[in-house]
Amino acid sequence: MAVTNNLENKQSKLWFKRALKSLPGGVSSPVRAFHGVDGMPHVLYSASGSETIDEDGNRYLDFVGSWGPLILGHAHPILTQAVREATQRGTSFGAPSRPEIELAEMVAESYPGIEQVRFVSSGTEAVMSAVRLARGATGRDLIVKFSGCYHGHVDYLLVAAGSGLATFGKPSSDGVPKTFAELTRILPLDDSDAVSALFQKEGSKIAAVIIEPVPANNGLLLQCPKFLNTLRNLCTKHGALLIFDEVISGFRLGPGGAAEHYGLKPDLATFGKVIGGGMPVGAFGGSQEIMSNLAPQGGVYQAGTLSGNPVAMTAGLTTLHYMKKHKGWGMLEELGQYLDNQLNKVIEQSPVPASLVRIGSIFWIAWGSGIPPRSAETINENATNYYKKVFHGLLEQGVSLAPSAYEVGFLSLAHTHKDIDRLSNTLANVLDNNFLGVNSGDGHARN
Ligand SMILES: *Cc1c(COP(=O)(O)O)cnc(C)c1O
Repeated sequence: MAVTNNLENKQSKLWFKRALKSLPGGVSSPVRAFHGVDGMPHVLYSASGSETIDEDGNRYLDFVGSWGPLILGHAHPILTQAVREATQRGTSFGAPSRPEIELAEMVAESYPGIEQVRFVSSGTEAVMSAVRLARGATGRDLIVKFSGCYHGHVDYLLVAAGSGLATFGKPSSDGVPKTFAELTRILPLDDSDAVSALFQKEGSKIAAVIIEPVPANNGLLLQCPKFLNTLRNLCTKHGALLIFDEVISGFRLGPGGAAEHYGLKPDLATFGKVIGGGMPVGAFGGSQEIMSNLAPQGGVYQAGTLSGNPVAMTAGLTTLHYMKKHKGWGMLEELGQYLDNQLNKVIEQSPVPASLVRIGSIFWIAWGSGIPPRSAETINENATNYYKKVFHGLLEQGVSLAPSAYEVGFLSLAHTHKDIDRLSNTLANVLDNNFLGVNSGDGHARN
């Protein structure tokens, strides 16, 4: 695996300098700016399969996968062909169309408890709309969320635990009014007692509990099934809706997402990423009864000029058809088990404790933690310092992970066993290279 990358990144640097003038921070979404790892992003020119190529022609073995959507890999020929054909029939109709109806049917067939779906253009929009629907359907205002879960950048979900009475939210972003944040309650993950206590106090005011059933935006904080069960039971008991934010896990863990994985039925579920196959798509769905509260049938307003866009719907539909036809989820699980094997051998030799967390095609290494953390509060505080070294070490050798210690990696159908060998061998190399200045010592000798 000759590494022929031009590490000077001349063209990338020129382009990014221009980007810094016309785009805040040089980017259209913050984590892309590499602030989490102290660096400068490569400006990408193209991508195919498991590889991305930057403006200097450097090639990277990619585990970012555009942050989750690309379950078939980059620019899959069947997908690009379908998108080309759809585009030729028209780029937008603003009217119902066949791919939109077929994709809605596919979601309803696949996901536990969903009978109807509304399409939107991003995960944020899906969550925002689902929460409005939950409030409209219950006639209540309070929303419960968990620290360590991300639900997009809607105002009342950009909220962190306040000091003192920990459940009262305070804005985690400038520009979010305190009064918006006050309608959100924040709880730690993996703590059933805290949820029970909150319901006891305010159960009759809670419209919805929203959770990533597979929290994958602050590391990969896999939850005990018992905790998710508790949420289901408490919501049912108190007349609150349970919203599973499956923007990452939906159609990635399997056709029924985390709900199928854990054998649970949320009242509403939100989708994004994989459901759009790399095009801007989000969706939310639930029973016909709950969804009938949406305009034009009900009083909860929700709309979008480009919602259900025929080209984007075609990309999503083609992705899901391909996954079903080729038993893609089974293949990804097999690949994931191979990743466990190979990476665990390397991580065992790490000079600092580390643990690999994986579910299906989503993986994360908890640097500094000997056991997988289940809550944001239990992630090692030095994780970022450790990860910076790993990240740049890998990137210099042409292997690309997400530029933040708290972002997960994604496998796609384009990845091969050889790709995974390359990841594990390169990581072994990086760790051998006097990782963090921690001497790996005789006991950790490796060849
Ligand atoms: C990515 C993500 C979102 C936001 O989706 P966007 O398309 O980026 O707006 C919401 N929830 C979860 C769980 C996500 O991973």
